[in-house]
Amino acid sequence: MHDNLQIENLTLRNQLESLLQEARQNEDKLRRFDVLERRIIGAGSFVELIRLLLADYRQVFGIEHVSLTLVDQEYEIPRLLDEAGLGQEIPGLCLMADDAWLKFCFSGDYKTRLTRFDSVSHGRLFPDGDDTPASVALLPLMRQNCLIGSLNLGSADPDRYTEGAGTEFLDRLAAVAAVCVESTLSRERLKRAGVTDALTGVHNRRYFDHRCPAEASQARRQRQPLACMFLDIDRFKRINDTYGHQVGDLVLQGIATTIKAQLRTSDTLARYGGEEFVALLPQTAQAHALEIAERIRTAIETQVLTTPHGERVPVTISIGLSMAVLDSTCEHKDAATAMVAAADHALYEAKHGGRNRVVSATALPFGCRSSPLQSFLAQVRQWVGGVLHKLATLAHLQRA
Ligand code: GH3
Ligand code: MG
Ligand code: MG
Repeated sequence: MHDNLQIENLTLRNQLESLLQEARQNEDKLRRFDVLERRIIGAGSFVELIRLLLADYRQVFGIEHVSLTLVDQEYEIPRLLDEAGLGQEIPGLCLMADDAWLKFCFSGDYKTRLTRFDSVSHGRLFPDGDDTPASVALLPLMRQNCLIGSLNLGSADPDRYTEGAGTEFLDRLAAVAAVCVESTLSRERLKRAGVTDALTGVHNRRYFDHRCPAEASQARRQRQPLACMFLDIDRFKRINDTYGHQVGDLVLQGIATTIKAQLRTSDTLARYGGEEFVALLPQTAQAHALEIAERIRTAIETQVLTTPHGERVPVTISIGLSMAVLDSTCEHKDAATAMVAAADHALYEAKHGGRNRVVSATALPFGCRSSPLQSFLAQVRQWVGGVLHKLATLAHLQRA
């Protein structure tokens, strides 16, 4: 009798100890989850959010695989990553053009799935690496009854995620992640809309005005050249008058695409106004910038643009090119203003010289190297250009 009581006592003690241990583990898990959740909610951008979800979650919870699948019908996310300078691929991030595959994975009920890994059903959700998980937790990301993606956790431990185990933590994580994905994406969308020209999809004047002094400052710090191009479609009014404004709009879109295709992702292209574009090419020497400008001019001249009725619309462009003069005596903002004014002035010369041509504000001397006198003259010219531009702005402000 006494022995039986002792055994029962010991069993109860052991049970209590294991319950306490589980409670401690859960408390610790909750604390770590809480910290991560706050960081996820506080993510300042979409890129920061996916970094937190993909890298930090794995680290904080000691699991081997985390991937994020997102439905991206508009091909918006690669563009966004590209603009953030991240290239188009992020390990662990998998984009799908529609939700068909995810709907199949969650087979209709959109609940967190804990199961053994099966390469046929789950392979697409864990695309990176040869090493596959043994058990997985698939968390559906839902917004307004739509499946926008899934957060996929994979463990090398086959018993880590087993059917029937509690999913409260994971359900909460899924809800938080879904809200954060949606809100950071719409914030990025809004940001983009504020700096994007709606017709052509390139940046707008506001973005350029902000970007230009920043590029000049960076060019001076890095002691690298900075080129600027003003590009204006020739006789565009005539195109509108001949084919109508809708065709004119199509031409603007086509031209923006052609110019963009000739530039690097690190270059800035903006619609400056009407049928005029401006480009900034960091780390580009004058001779190279001239080559690129000539390439753009030729590409537009030979490009076949047609009306919706199949009629060919011949289009040419004039380009003014200038280089930033970034010596220590000049404020980078003034250097940027002078550079823009010089490119504008060169464009004016291109128009007066007969259109469909590239004119460089600084003449490109033999062997592409400036003599001290030529550099001096170029600087004076850019300075005068800057002063004229300021005077024109002042006159405009007085008139307004
Ligand atoms: P130039 O070779 O001297 O540049 O002549 P141009 O006809 O191109 O220049 P001008 O400034 O006389 O005319 C520009 C025209 O561009 C006038 C304006 O109606 C048209 N335009 C400006 N913005 C848009 C737009 O968003 N869509 C369309 N279709 N036309 C536009
Ligand atoms: Mg024009
Ligand atoms: Mg114009």
